[in-house]
Amino acid sequence: MILVNALEKFGSKLNTVQSPSRYLGGEYGSLIKPHVKNDSLFNVAVAFPDLYEIGMSNMAIKIICNGLNKSENIRAELVFAPDTDFEQLLKETDTPLYTLGTGMPLCSTDVLAFSIGYELGATELLAVLENGKVPLLASERGDCDPIVLAGGCGVTNPAPLSDFVDAFMIGEAEAGLFELIEELALLKKNGASRSEKLELIKSKPFMWTRDQLHSKGKVTRRAVQENFGKVEAVPSVFPLPMVKPVQDHGVVEIMRGCPNGCRFCHAGIYYRPSRVKNLKYIIDEIDSLVFDAGYREISLNSLSSADFPDIGRLLDILNERYKGYNVSFQLPSLKVNSMSLPVLEKISTVRRSGLTFAVETPDEMWQLSLNKEVYSTHLEEIIREAKAKGWSSAKFYFMVGLPLGDYFTDSSGGDEYEAGLEGSEERAIADFLIDIQSRTRIQCNVNVGVFIPKPHTPYQWVRQIDPKKAEKKIDYIFKRLP
Ligand code: SF4
Repeated sequence: MILVNALEKFGSKLNTVQSPSRYLGGEYGSLIKPHVKNDSLFNVAVAFPDLYEIGMSNMAIKIICNGLNKSENIRAELVFAPDTDFEQLLKETDTPLYTLGTGMPLCSTDVLAFSIGYELGATELLAVLENGKVPLLASERGDCDPIVLAGGCGVTNPAPLSDFVDAFMIGEAEAGLFELIEELALLKKNGASRSEKLELIKSKPFMWTRDQLHSKGKVTRRAVQENFGKVEAVPSVFPLPMVKPVQDHGVVEIMRGCPNGCRFCHAGIYYRPSRVKNLKYIIDEIDSLVFDAGYREISLNSLSSADFPDIGRLLDILNERYKGYNVSFQLPSLKVNSMSLPVLEKISTVRRSGLTFAVETPDEMWQLSLNKEVYSTHLEEIIREAKAKGWSSAKFYFMVGLPLGDYFTDSSGGDEYEAGLEGSEERAIADFLIDIQSRTRIQCNVNVGVFIPKPHTPYQWVRQIDPKKAEKKIDYIFKRLP
């Protein structure tokens, strides 16, 4: 394999691209397995189809890369999508996109494994393939090309990308991917062909391949790490990014899955059942983030941290343990209810944490239909209490385009749609915000998203509203607010 040494290859041309350190490797804490003559390691490129700063904030790719590297038969390295300026440089110099660790051209690896967290990654997946000189179509790949795998939340309906990806993993990497790649590594040592490796992949119950699209044979089953939280997690602290990432803090996954059943929520369904991490492992991981990696802001991640059993006690323990180190904790997905204000106060001992309410839709009947209740009377009480305790602003999340209200009766497209009529969700959202603001005098920051029906949820077959209609709804809310 001819490795790409970016500094030698591009030299001063690197100064012509934005943030060249995205493409140089050398991250602190990277595990490098040097290439030696007659190297028989199984080479895996773990790809995140977005820019370095976004990808390096992602836990999944670090878990996958570090989990694979535990095997002495596997060399796994990260790669991210290039920005357009670097893409141009790759083309000008006829250089294939390469991994950051040792500069393996993607076309020379054994497996190119994508972690796709969201659907917008689809186009960048193609860009990574093209820049890595890997044939775009699975049907055009031969024995010398890598096997292209994909997994993650963005491909739980794999059909749309099945022309480009050889096989999809449905479920959690810890529950089968590492063993699968290990078996592929042994096949490589024994000189197996591409089709023999693909046969092995197809034999796994959690893998999905294009030939299942119209067949009634195999049904793929989601892989779930049953013992999540009860055993030590695959480390996800290192490598540390060279460029400031979008989420520049340490992350610990304290719980996987969510005990609530909001009908629109893909993650809530895909990561079932909810599993809690043992306190000892949480503390071990935070110790590593604080004392080995130097983080002072730690995010306690999960889908719904308020549902972590006794989150208040956990914060007491953490605040006591890291007292004197200026460490602050964040709960990015805290469902605010009457129980959570004391929790917010605890996480605000070092830095003030924001108040966030994911209301989604204001009407109580609609909330019941979504199976997500955030009643306005409760909200008002909480906001009043929060104001008394020193909070002056709150953030509200809403969605438009949910299958509620006039969704089923109004069939007008974007051009004909008249926003703000009686019974419309945008009118309800604006009324709600004006009302809550006038009652509580809290500063409201508002985020309105457009509902996207997700696979495997009860709403998977409903239609998404067209962009013009969505724009009119959001415009209406924006104009109504003072
Ligand atoms: S509480 Fe949040 S994460 Fe849980 S199901 Fe509802 S929307 Fe999804």
